[in-house]
Amino acid sequence: MRIHNFSAGPCTLPLEVLEEARDEFVDYHGAGASLIEMSHRSPEYDAVHQAALATARRLAEVPDDFDVLFVQGGASLQFAMVPMNLLDHGDTAGYALTGSWSKKAFEDALHHGDVSVAWDGAEVGYARTPDATELDPPAFARYLHLCSNETIGGIRWPDWPDVGVPLAVDMSSEFLARPIPWDLVDVVYGGVQKNLGPAGMSIVFVRRSVLDADADLAAYLNWATHAAKDSLYNTPPVFVVWMTGKVLAWLEEHGGVAAFEERAAERAGRLYEAIDGSGGYYRSPVDVAHRSHMNVVFRLPSEEDEARFLAGAAERGLANLKGHRSVGGIRASIYAAMPMEGVEALVDHMESFPR
Ligand code: PMP
Repeated sequence: MRIHNFSAGPCTLPLEVLEEARDEFVDYHGAGASLIEMSHRSPEYDAVHQAALATARRLAEVPDDFDVLFVQGGASLQFAMVPMNLLDHGDTAGYALTGSWSKKAFEDALHHGDVSVAWDGAEVGYARTPDATELDPPAFARYLHLCSNETIGGIRWPDWPDVGVPLAVDMSSEFLARPIPWDLVDVVYGGVQKNLGPAGMSIVFVRRSVLDADADLAAYLNWATHAAKDSLYNTPPVFVVWMTGKVLAWLEEHGGVAAFEERAAERAGRLYEAIDGSGGYYRSPVDVAHRSHMNVVFRLPSEEDEARFLAGAAERGLANLKGHRSVGGIRASIYAAMPMEGVEALVDHMESFPR
């Protein structure tokens, strides 16, 4: 039996994908070896790799003047690679701080350029994202960085800010769960281990005109290296690419980004309904318009109640609902592969628990 897994990432993946990978794992299409035993230069792997890149491009409707990169190291490495690749000497950049992940991105960028805070959500208890008019990127900023969905705080940007400088967006926890505003961005990146696959790499969509093969960077840290080599500069994480390609294909078969966005709103809506309809028993710390569709965060009257709630949930096969250790409370992460039955089972528990 499979549990309903509300983990924030790594997380639930589509059962069909897991089963297909199991069936192909030991003997890949009759080759007498597993795909993960083959050279990353083999025709078998190359077909998997190119298909995954192409599916990502189709699904995200990536314009021709953007490159799609698969880079190891998770979104955390992109916290450094974004300023390394975008900031020339003397450039500045602004960071909107809306929670833990955008703060981490900012702290890393401090090592690589002249960056400053364009807005700090501490003033509003990280309960909302800013309006474009509140943002204050430094004069002549090269980019404004934002995290479109804060995985820990459960808060998202409902609208993309147009502040006259290109955006650099960490979309890790809502990757391909909403359309990307291509006109506004120079780079969009995210770890794949939430909506798109197992842990081990990021997908980076980058405007080709910003790439600089001659930048004073180690080869792996330069996006241009990956772009020039179809993300095959060195040995790629073959298992992760293989699985991610399968999840991307599954998303495409199930209606793509538009359908996924709609299903996400529906799933999250059911949980927020249960919170708001509880007569104040459950409380959401996030302003209504800024509530995440991926990570639904809520509190109960006391920490003891929360511990009992989690224990009761576990008995019903509802797993990994504990909020991040830095904030406590409850967090239900409901990524692409979370079935509606999982959400309904949680709503059922939420309705019966207070009684
Ligand atoms: N940004 C966001 C929004 C995240 O949720 C995470 C991971 N939870 C990260 C960045 C860091 O990603 P990684 O673990 O892939 O480095």
